[in-house]
Amino acid sequence: MAKIELKNLTKQFGDKFAVKDQNLIVNQGEFLILLGPSGCGKTTTLNCIAGLEIPSSGEIFFNNNDVTNDPPHSRNVAMVFQSALLYPHLNCKQNILMSLKKTNLSDDQKEQRISESASILNIKELMHKKPHQLSGGERQRVATAKAIVRQPDVFLLDEPMAALDAALRQTLRSELVNLQKKLNTTTVFVTHDQVEAMTMGDRIAVMNDGKVEQIGTPIEIYNKPKTKFVAGFVGSPPMNFLNGKITNKDGNYLFEVNSTMDNILLNKDMKDINNYRTLAFRPQHASIVNDNNYDLELKIYGIENLGKELIIICEYNNDKIRIITENPNYKINDLIKIKINKNKILFF
Ligand code: ATP
Repeated sequence: MAKIELKNLTKQFGDKFAVKDQNLIVNQGEFLILLGPSGCGKTTTLNCIAGLEIPSSGEIFFNNNDVTNDPPHSRNVAMVFQSALLYPHLNCKQNILMSLKKTNLSDDQKEQRISESASILNIKELMHKKPHQLSGGERQRVATAKAIVRQPDVFLLDEPMAALDAALRQTLRSELVNLQKKLNTTTVFVTHDQVEAMTMGDRIAVMNDGKVEQIGTPIEIYNKPKTKFVAGFVGSPPMNFLNGKITNKDGNYLFEVNSTMDNILLNKDMKDINNYRTLAFRPQHASIVNDNNYDLELKIYGIENLGKELIIICEYNNDKIRIITENPNYKINDLIKIKINKNKILFF
């Protein structure tokens, strides 16, 4: 397993910066997620690590060795893509064997490696089948076996579950994490799905516009997003944002919401009040109240019933505010009053 270090990595296509001055360290044995919206540069970063793209500038180190210009085959990296890349005319065993073709292993050693990988991925009974005889999930398991059989130093996965249905994705999520912990191979996993990121990664690097905007454990990213972008991208249902400014009236701090007459009374311990322009809170950090001790009055625009709870979507100030409740008795166009938990709010 290798420690990966990207130093000022930049990749340009014409005048488009796919990755811009990117710095990132993936520790030995770590499961790191590259999370971000479509087009933010996740795949390009991964391809540079794999050696499939040569950076325009910057450097890549594996265990402090500069591999920036090394070809892919000399990096001992294995990749799994969204579509399992298997040879259609070969059966699963022959497909996995292809990964060992260029090694110096004896036939017995190859047999042993294939058997180990197949049992780790629980595909022993599929070995004689051809790819078209497999389900999507089985194909991804075989592609993963094909990747791990080489015992790579680095394991790179590019949205490997994007084409699978929700139930299968959920099963494969825990399988992949379990496999990674067993093998302890340094892993970089690309996804735009924040649920995948939150549930799988040791750390998440949230990318925006060619750069990592924040890196941290899932809990750090969720509880302490450093930017509005990270706050809005991580969490489901998404965070609520109100634009306005903080004022101090007679010793009380108020958040005055733009274009409305609404003032939200804040806690006393405010700092940097002149810099903040956005108040943010998660849907579960506000409750619907019946008395007059409320922060905002809102009209219900939509209701999503999740079974155990409901997401109430309200229209407010040309935007949407989402609240979670267990009370099923609300209807579209009802007026509700909400109270925001001031200990949980964030400012940007
Ligand atoms: P997605 O989740 O949609 O795959 P991504 O975050 O992986 O997106 P990249 O595929 O790395 O993003 O692309 C980053 C940017 O670079 C995009 O604007 C893309 O159009 C551009 N880009 C990527 N590869 C090339 C290429 N070979 N030629 C020109 N532009 C490219």
